[in-house]
Amino acid sequence: MLNGKVTDAEYTYQRITYVKPVEHHYGKDEEQPYIKYGCPVCELLNNKHQVTFGSNNCPLCNVNLIWEEPTSSNRMRIYKAIYGMGGIATGGYFKSLVAADCKENVAGLLCEEHDEEVLITRVDETDKKSEYADEHVLTTERI
Ligand SMILES: [Zn+2]
Repeated sequence: MLNGKVTDAEYTYQRITYVKPVEHHYGKDEEQPYIKYGCPVCELLNNKHQVTFGSNNCPLCNVNLIWEEPTSSNRMRIYKAIYGMGGIATGGYFKSLVAADCKENVAGLLCEEHDEEVLITRVDETDKKSEYADEHVLTTERI
């Protein structure tokens, strides 16, 4: 699982990707627990190594690292989506809460989550903000 952010820019090629380092917690039961950080990209490639807190880039794959916690400005908005999905036998209507940067991204995230095309009925922005700075589907229920 990758967490991070992509900076907004007018053109796609101007957007810059940052990933949040993975935290490995050690010594939980000891007096002084400590955290080591890893590069999430390298870990996905089974090349686990440590990165120094505050480094701008991974020394191995050079990906940009982001260290700050999600703030109200980079937290994702939460949208409520109503949509149809599936064939005659298994299909139906579903309701999902989706953390997304903008309304236009919601359908794509749902397709990715369910690995099939969804037919959006409506998408409403809620007044909630996600705890996370990445886009993902939070909940899905059949309606
Ligand atoms: Zn790396």
